[in-house]
Amino acid sequence: MNDSLIVHGMVLFQSAVGENDKRLVILTKEKGKITVFARGARRPGNANLAVGPFSTGEFEVIEGRSAYNLKRSVISNYFRELATDPKQAYYGFYFLEACGFYAVENADESNLINLLYITLRAMERKQMDMELLRRVFELKLLAIEGEYPNVFECVSCGSKENLNTFSFEGRGMVCDDCKRKTDTTTVSKSTLYTLQYVITSEPSSVYAFNVNDEVKEEFIYIVGKYFNMYVGHSFKSLEVLESMGLK
Ligand SMILES: [Zn+2]
Repeated sequence: MNDSLIVHGMVLFQSAVGENDKRLVILTKEKGKITVFARGARRPGNANLAVGPFSTGEFEVIEGRSAYNLKRSVISNYFRELATDPKQAYYGFYFLEACGFYAVENADESNLINLLYITLRAMERKQMDMELLRRVFELKLLAIEGEYPNVFECVSCGSKENLNTFSFEGRGMVCDDCKRKTDTTTVSKSTLYTLQYVITSEPSSVYAFNVNDEVKEEFIYIVGKYFNMYVGHSFKSLEVLESMGLK
């Protein structure tokens, strides 16, 4: 019999198995993204009955042959507020799915767990417009994964001056001397600063800013198009949002 171990993190996904069991995918600080079976967890009165997507806390697990088994959980936050608004809930599912897409087993995923936690808290507090919050999340996710656009210098010549244009093909800013007409968009100074801020800020303060409508629009357009171009994955939760007319 294997010894149990304690891991900390957030449940990304849950599915029903057999008559009473649950299969959970948990993003953990200690073991990365792991699959955990919770026996009897769908039975009324079971201690793990309420454990599902968004549940954040401590999990005592026992390593099995191909997955872990849940022995005990101590949940510190269920993010129950999110369930009261379908749009919030499905954006929440999207954030879980997007982090799950990048996360791997046996890696330290604390940055992703932090980002998820901060994002869900910001959403619960209605700290930011939903569409902007989504794009801030996506850019921060790309920053954590090292796939963010270069918004700090011209991607062609390295100049830090006259950066007024974003190139989607070039994956970043181009200066006035290097800019081409195709596949580019003009970027205001405030939008450039906002892009830089989101990439470099501590996760805890990534949503702590305010912008005017013009900057918001530019930011949403650039991050949205860039994310679609380079992530190249269709997320199920976004399809649901779209089918519900919420996206
Ligand atoms: Zn240049």
